[in-house]
Amino acid sequence: MTSTPPAPSSARRAPDGRLAEVADGVFAYLQPDGGWCLNNAGLLVDGGECALVDTVATEERARHLRTQVLHTAGRPPRFLVNTHFHGDHTFGNFVFPEAVVVGHERARAEAAAAGLHLTGLWPDVCWGDLEVVVPDLTYHARMTLHVGSVEARLVHPGPAHTTGDTVVWLPRQRVLFTGDLVMAGATPFCPMGSVSGSLRALAELRALGAVTVVPGHGPVGGPELFDVNEAYLRRLQRLAAEGIAAGLSPLETAREAGPGPYADLLDAERLVPNLHRAYAEARGAVPGVPLDIPALFGEMAEHHGGLPLCRA
Ligand SMILES: [Zn+2]
Repeated sequence: MTSTPPAPSSARRAPDGRLAEVADGVFAYLQPDGGWCLNNAGLLVDGGECALVDTVATEERARHLRTQVLHTAGRPPRFLVNTHFHGDHTFGNFVFPEAVVVGHERARAEAAAAGLHLTGLWPDVCWGDLEVVVPDLTYHARMTLHVGSVEARLVHPGPAHTTGDTVVWLPRQRVLFTGDLVMAGATPFCPMGSVSGSLRALAELRALGAVTVVPGHGPVGGPELFDVNEAYLRRLQRLAAEGIAAGLSPLETAREAGPGPYADLLDAERLVPNLHRAYAEARGAVPGVPLDIPALFGEMAEHHGGLPLCRA
């Protein structure tokens, strides 16, 4: 009889996030390596004002982010935009009590419904004493924030990574904060949103003409980041069509196809829940219709041989 040691579910590291200036007064807050729960954020500083785009997953990481923001901006943010409800982007909201938290109307509802659910998925992570803070200023399609002279356009591109996504577009600096609609060096993830919606959103983002793209996870890049994400999503649609024709389940298709050309991206096991979304849409599901996410995470863990490592 053989026994498999339990896979580690957490690799705790001291917070090493850092601010990188990508345009005058515009910063990306980067947390390498960009795997599960190691997300990016953003900071806009101008004219004695500042605004934050997203926070981070744990209390310790959030306090580290706050220290860096105060050091760079000299003051706490007046606005805090959440690009979507996921805990890695929102759990740190509570360490910025001075800020008005802004998000899409669906992100507010999704954050309230999710609560601290993510902490239960990875109980070994040192989450700290978290307090859920949901957006208190919401919008439906578009909204513009003015941070000093910086114009920050909030755009909801429809169901994509989730159903309540926001991207932040700075037209003058041509910088785009995409949230998790774009991943760099990490696998896209859309079981809570839409494959076709993500492709539609990426086409919309591409048309903005960004020079600098700050992804939700991974290093800052340019519009070439759209290419990998689009190609990955198209492969999902292709695999779903082939899998359905062959009578295979999403899990069987994932096992048979493997990560293919995307083996180098972090968190390749996302293929399983992503395929569930692609299958649902191939069978006519409306983009963003809820799927059984806990069941999909269970299948993903089965495919991966254990719960994937949370890097927070
Ligand atoms: Zn996310």
